[in-house]
Amino acid sequence: MRPAGVFPPTLPLLTESRSEVADPPVPETFPSADEKTGTRLKFAKDTAGFMTELKLRVDGYFATTGKSPNDCWQMYLKTAIILTWYAGSYIALVFYAQGALQAIPLAMSLGVAMAAIGFCIQHDGGHDAYSKKRWVNRLAAYTLDLIGASSYLWHWKHAIFHHTFTNVQGYDSDIDLGRFARFSPHAKKYRFQRWQHLYLWPLYGISSSRWHLMGDYEDFYRQTVGPHHVPRPRGWELFWFFAGKVPSYTLAFVIPMFFHPWYIVLAFYMLVTCTIGVTLSVVFQLAHCVEEAEFPLPEDGTLRMENAWAVHQVETTVDFGRNSFTLCWLLGGLNFQIEHHLFPRICHIHYPALSKIVEQTCKEYGVRYACHTSFWSGIKSHYRWLKRMGREEMAVAK
Ligand SMILES: [Zn+2]
Repeated sequence: MRPAGVFPPTLPLLTESRSEVADPPVPETFPSADEKTGTRLKFAKDTAGFMTELKLRVDGYFATTGKSPNDCWQMYLKTAIILTWYAGSYIALVFYAQGALQAIPLAMSLGVAMAAIGFCIQHDGGHDAYSKKRWVNRLAAYTLDLIGASSYLWHWKHAIFHHTFTNVQGYDSDIDLGRFARFSPHAKKYRFQRWQHLYLWPLYGISSSRWHLMGDYEDFYRQTVGPHHVPRPRGWELFWFFAGKVPSYTLAFVIPMFFHPWYIVLAFYMLVTCTIGVTLSVVFQLAHCVEEAEFPLPEDGTLRMENAWAVHQVETTVDFGRNSFTLCWLLGGLNFQIEHHLFPRICHIHYPALSKIVEQTCKEYGVRYACHTSFWSGIKSHYRWLKRMGREEMAVAK
């Protein structure tokens, strides 16, 4: 049993439910896996009752509206539209495109459709937010394998490590791109990073192909992500780790090579994956790597965090473009990352409504709630943050 207040209120649900729903279960749940490396951070107790109040108000929202947190009809419709968009772009690109003028926009359309699969379908499924039925969530989560990356490793890196240790240097793998990028004021600084606000954008582009072709295999072999132990998949998960790569490689290389020269296939593979990489990276960076996000560290010499988990999540995360219907629809609620980090098991369709409750509660409890009014103001803030981090000296723990 976990000590009260040490772990975030939502996390036990997240990890316990995953070990129930995994087929077969994840062999080791997060706390025991992380204790192996002695890297389990402890958050402060929620003495102010911030998360308890938030949960009450959100439960009240669902009770008064009669809406369900999962299995929303809008999600099934959206899934059908995005998968049709994906299949249509692929078929038109591989079988019908005549010349570069048709092929380039189709490749970019395919890349954005694949990113939308990640944002809207896989992300909700992977967090058990899509449906109350485990098989629906698993099916939705497996769409990540369809677009080239391992859903097994994503669960550990994103749903557990990133969602627990958000923006904590050395613990959150999402802010660790090696020495090429410095996102946190607590990361080591290298001279060449003073140009990172310029050179990182194309590197975002190759991040997807690197993830698909190398990153997953490296993590599988090393069994570690940062300081965290990642158990090697077994049984069905092991089979799916490798088998899951087959459809994406077949669609990306094998089928197109029957119809086009290899160098054309390679060039368009790079164009599609660059589109995915830039889209995914930018959307995720706007939530955590901007001027308004905090980068707290454990108190000096300990594994204790100053804030309660829920407060930590709000203060390390920033929303953007909350009034844009297009962003809300296309990004699967990832422009409402504060709400997503607090309630990862609620379907993203509800985040616009929940954001009003969360913002008001933050105001009452004195928790800083940050939001960029548009996508572009978020981009500008990310650019300025990269520039500042590339030049500013290393900050030390309190
Ligand atoms: Zn997430």
